[in-house]
Amino acid sequence: MKDVTAPRAVVAGGAGFVGSHLCDRLLAEGWEVVCVDSLLTGARENLRDAATESRFSIQEADITKDLDVEGSVDWIFNLASPASPVDYLAHPIETLEVGALGSLACLRLAERKGAGLFLASTSEVYGDPQVHPQPESYWGNVNPIGPRSVYDEAKRFAEAVTMAFHRTRGVPVRIIRIFNTYGPRMRRHDGRAVPTFIDQALRAEPITVHGDGSQTRSLCYVDDLIEGIWRFLHSDLTGPMNLGSTEEVTMAELAELIRSLTDARSPIVYTERPVDDPENRRPDTSLARDRLGWTPQIPLREGLAKTIGWIRQDEVPERSGRGETLPSSA
Ligand code: NAD
Repeated sequence: MKDVTAPRAVVAGGAGFVGSHLCDRLLAEGWEVVCVDSLLTGARENLRDAATESRFSIQEADITKDLDVEGSVDWIFNLASPASPVDYLAHPIETLEVGALGSLACLRLAERKGAGLFLASTSEVYGDPQVHPQPESYWGNVNPIGPRSVYDEAKRFAEAVTMAFHRTRGVPVRIIRIFNTYGPRMRRHDGRAVPTFIDQALRAEPITVHGDGSQTRSLCYVDDLIEGIWRFLHSDLTGPMNLGSTEEVTMAELAELIRSLTDARSPIVYTERPVDDPENRRPDTSLARDRLGWTPQIPLREGLAKTIGWIRQDEVPERSGRGETLPSSA
């Protein structure tokens, strides 16, 4: 029987990497969850556990064209967007559309339903930062016409329109800026460093590091991010709020660590650096620490080992875009 008191969430982008973990957490907390996803970069297999719950349903839809959900809604989580550079450079117009039209559609639905709107923004709003580490008060250094601008500017618009609905229409909002997050359910070929390096190591192929490998990232394990989202949701803050790890690692160090954790013999090779690739990336997470009591708990080595274990599993099919399942070649 349906629990009439359970809060009800719409998770746009819920079939993706982060979105599917969020669906799992909301279900575990007793929520009812409606996932809306076009499967552009997500996959139904990510929702295999969620789909066993009667409180879960999925609507396959592009939120820029069609976003309507029957019944009451308490919170709309807007995570819909290609997120890896490979994905958003392959889908530049779709990325701009979902950041702009998709965000507007989520906010209009929130207003109609009297619901709150939770936006997954990104550290990319800081561009190639000239302030390090980046606090929420930093306005960023974004090239508005560079190749990455399709993602960065879409998210900056998404933040702006979310705040406009909050200020002028009274929609309760939460905005997080996610710094590089990794973990199970990332696609091997989504182009982000962690799955790329693991895939190359497991295939005993050269591990390809951009530039001289001295550029840094701080990598947060997905369970820590979801805990931060959960705490922020229950706060009285609107954000933006940085969520990410402060444990900074160079790309060369990351490649070495993955090589050692996989016992791979892969050589590490250095390739051309992408345009506007940020030099340093580390959040100032004082706000999350002070106001939410949140700090990431899972050390990089442990999180990488879990991710490697997941990617290694023969029975886990490789995920491609549009929800197709390809045979694993590992
Ligand atoms: P992902 O590509 O795995 O998930 C994105 C999901 O959005 C996919 O399931 C995709 O099919 C869906 N989607 C895209 N366009 C859509 C549309 N028009 N209509 C409906 N669904 C659509 O990426 P992710 O890593 O899970 O990222 C989730 C969110 O978090 C994104 O908004 C991303 O910008 C943000 N984020 C993630 C990271 C990270 O490190 N993973 C960092 C910063 C921000």
